[in-house]
Amino acid sequence: MINRFTQSDLNKEFDVIIIGGGINGCGIARDAALRGLSVLLLEKEDFGYGCTSASTRLIHGGLRYLEYFEFSLVRESLIERELLLKNASHLVKPIELCIPIYKNDKRSFFEIKAGMLLYDLLSFDKTLPCHKMMSKEEFIKFEPGVNSDNLVGAAIYYDAQVTYPERICVENAIMAAQASAMVINHAEVITLKNELRKITSLTFLDRLSDKQFTVKGKQIINVSGPWVDKLCSLASNDIKRKIGGTKGSHIIVNKFPGAPTHAVYSSAKSDNRPFFIIPWNDLILIGTTDIHYDEDLDSISASKSEVDYLLSEANSLVPGYKLEKKDILYTYSGIRPLPYISNTKPGAITRKHIIFDHKDEGISNLISVIGGKLTTYRNLSEQATDLLFKKLGRKKVECMTMEIPFIGNQNLCLSEPDYAYTVSDVLLRRSFLGLNPDLGMPSVEKLSNALKEKYGYSDDEIKKQVDEYEKTVSLRQCLLVET
Ligand SMILES: Cc1cc2nc3c(=O)[nH]c(=O)nc-3n(C[C@H](O)[C@H](O)[C@H](O)COP(=O)(O)OP(=O)(O)OC[C@H]3O[C@@H](n4cnc5c(N)ncnc54)[C@H](O)[C@@H]3O)c2cc1C
Repeated sequence: MINRFTQSDLNKEFDVIIIGGGINGCGIARDAALRGLSVLLLEKEDFGYGCTSASTRLIHGGLRYLEYFEFSLVRESLIERELLLKNASHLVKPIELCIPIYKNDKRSFFEIKAGMLLYDLLSFDKTLPCHKMMSKEEFIKFEPGVNSDNLVGAAIYYDAQVTYPERICVENAIMAAQASAMVINHAEVITLKNELRKITSLTFLDRLSDKQFTVKGKQIINVSGPWVDKLCSLASNDIKRKIGGTKGSHIIVNKFPGAPTHAVYSSAKSDNRPFFIIPWNDLILIGTTDIHYDEDLDSISASKSEVDYLLSEANSLVPGYKLEKKDILYTYSGIRPLPYISNTKPGAITRKHIIFDHKDEGISNLISVIGGKLTTYRNLSEQATDLLFKKLGRKKVECMTMEIPFIGNQNLCLSEPDYAYTVSDVLLRRSFLGLNPDLGMPSVEKLSNALKEKYGYSDDEIKKQVDEYEKTVSLRQCLLVET
């Protein structure tokens, strides 16, 4: 058991309590603290634990949203892409993508070219190169492993990639703490006291000390991603469902003969969904699926049918080497916290975020964030903080996050607070050894000893942490050991 704070450290009324330390919660914490609000950020596991770490890790304008005429979302995403390339250039890098175009594709060569022109137009102020179109012959030389049957040509364009979005969360949490926010991981909100149309206090369980703490906030913002409805239900049974989560899974394999050296973006043969094969972390990331999901949010794993789908689509896009289940190093899955819209195909649900003020549902100081993308988290955070100022009745302080680079981008020494407490924290969200082919298993023993020494954990406590890490690893591999 470790004690990081006492109740007296929390005996004040915060301007805002943020529930959820994914990319959006950490982003809001930083923005609000920089603008002078007193902030408490509570994360039940660790920063970046949720949907953020299950993403495809692209910082993208959302080319496909053009099809749904979501031009403002594309423009917003392209502006944010540029800001991340500037302010977080140590984490976010340009990536060249190619779209092979085939004879019977839903979109013709000229339709893709028109889409590319529009994408360039909407990012007229970008630093990345504009698109180019390639003939069949040029593309075969460019990416010889990609299927060339019925190939017409290809489009080549740029977006950006963040190898570790978890790190964006952590750095935002550090920058929030430097701006005087109190940021606490392993702190699960378990009750919201709703009195006379207001959340008057909340209780959280500090999982490291196993103690409960009660805290007050003038405004409460629920940024718990796929868990948003679960949090709302703590406040009232009358709040309508907000999230229509869809599950997305990826498989990770070693570079294989014929594997693309550029990111390839195509449409899945079987259902026309967007499909990616992306060089990532010196490995190959293949995804994703998009399936309605209403089950346990804390033990998600790729199903057999998802793995079969991803392998079969990868093999039809890159046919030379037949990828099999045994080639998969691990999988990961997460739930997109999309808005709940009945009778809509998952792929067609808007990726625009909604900042929902529950005053319309009878709770005056509760806000929930629904949906969004990694790419647009900064803008979402700015809008949420603007709303907080309005609800607090304070004169708005202008947002600064467009201008100030990330701490890791300024070559400053990261004097990080004890931010990593468990085996999973270190392997999955700080050192990223857990994302390597061996899933960090060879480091577990040494790390356990180091954590024991640093925090004084007992043998039982460290064993529990190792068991939890092994459970995560087995979720990532469970289908792979099936015969
Ligand atoms: C398969 C997939 C691919 C994607 N690809 C991309 C992409 O390439 N590019 C892109 O821009 N976007 C992508 N996205 C979308 C993006 O990942 C999400 O929109 C974003 O990560 C949501 O962040 P969040 O902070 O809202 O939620 P989360 O990251 O889920 O954070 C919510 C946090 O709340 C915490 N929490 C829950 N309950 C409690 C509680 N009771 N108390 C305290 N804390 C709690 C959770 O532990 C969690 O850490 C993808 C999403 C998926 C699933």
